[in-house]
Amino acid sequence: MSTRTEDTSSYADAIQAPGTDESVWEAWPGWESLREFPLPPRGRVVVVAAHPDDEVLGLGGTLARLAATGHGLTVVSVTDGEGSHPDSRVVRPHELVRLRAEETRTALERLGAGDAEIVRLHVPDSGVHRHEEAVRRALVQLCSGAVLVAAPWTADVHSDHEAAGRAARAAAHESDAPFVEYPVWMWHWARPEDPRVPWERAARLTLPAEVQARKRHAVDAFASQIRPLGPGAEDAAVLPPEELAHHLRPREVVFL
Ligand SMILES: [Zn+2]
Repeated sequence: MSTRTEDTSSYADAIQAPGTDESVWEAWPGWESLREFPLPPRGRVVVVAAHPDDEVLGLGGTLARLAATGHGLTVVSVTDGEGSHPDSRVVRPHELVRLRAEETRTALERLGAGDAEIVRLHVPDSGVHRHEEAVRRALVQLCSGAVLVAAPWTADVHSDHEAAGRAARAAAHESDAPFVEYPVWMWHWARPEDPRVPWERAARLTLPAEVQARKRHAVDAFASQIRPLGPGAEDAAVLPPEELAHHLRPREVVFL
C-alpha cells in the first residue's frame, strides 16, 4: 500500500487526511446494486501489486477463492515496498525488502495460495511512473494466455498504484487478456456515491465467511505494515486498524 510517495504532493492531503470510516461504507445501501463478478474460467490469473500487500488487501479473498477452484495464480510485485518507512532507524530499506517478500509468501499460504508464482520486478518504491514502459513490457509476457489480469485502479490517488494499473491495463490489452482494476486507497479518500468513483463499472466479489476469515489471517501476516516497527513516529504502522477495516469486509470490488 505504502503512504510515502514522492511526486504526489497534490495527492498528499487525500491520503494523509482522516479517511472515511468503515462504518460509513458498511451502512451504504449501494452495495446491493453492484453486480456480482463471476470468477473466470479455469486458467491462470495474474494479480499485479504495486507494493507487496496490495494484492492481498485488494483481492486476498478472491485469491483464496481462485486457489480453491484450481486456478493457477501469478502475483507480480512491481516494487519491493522498501519505501514504507524511509526514516526508520529500526528497519533499513534492504531489510524491508526481505521482510515484505516473506510477508507476501506467508499471506498467500494463509489464503491457500501457497503454490502461487511470485514475480518481482524490483522497480524502485515510489518510482513506478518512471519505469512504466519497462513494467508494461515485463507484464505483456506474464499476461499472455491469462484468463484474467487484475491490477491496482488507475485512479487510486497513489502514484505507484496508478502507474502499475496503467502498465497492466496496456499489457493485458496487448495480450488480449481480460482486465479488471481493484481499488485500495479509494476506500480511504472516497465516500459512498462519490462522483470520482466509476460506480457504473464496479462489481463486487462476495466472500463467504470462511474466505473472509482466511483473508483476515493473511492480512495479519503483514506485520511490518500493520504494527509499529518502533516507538517513534517514523516507525508508525502504515496500515492502522481504521485503514485495515476497509480490507476485512465480506466483499471485494473491481472495476470492469
Ligand atoms: Zn500499495
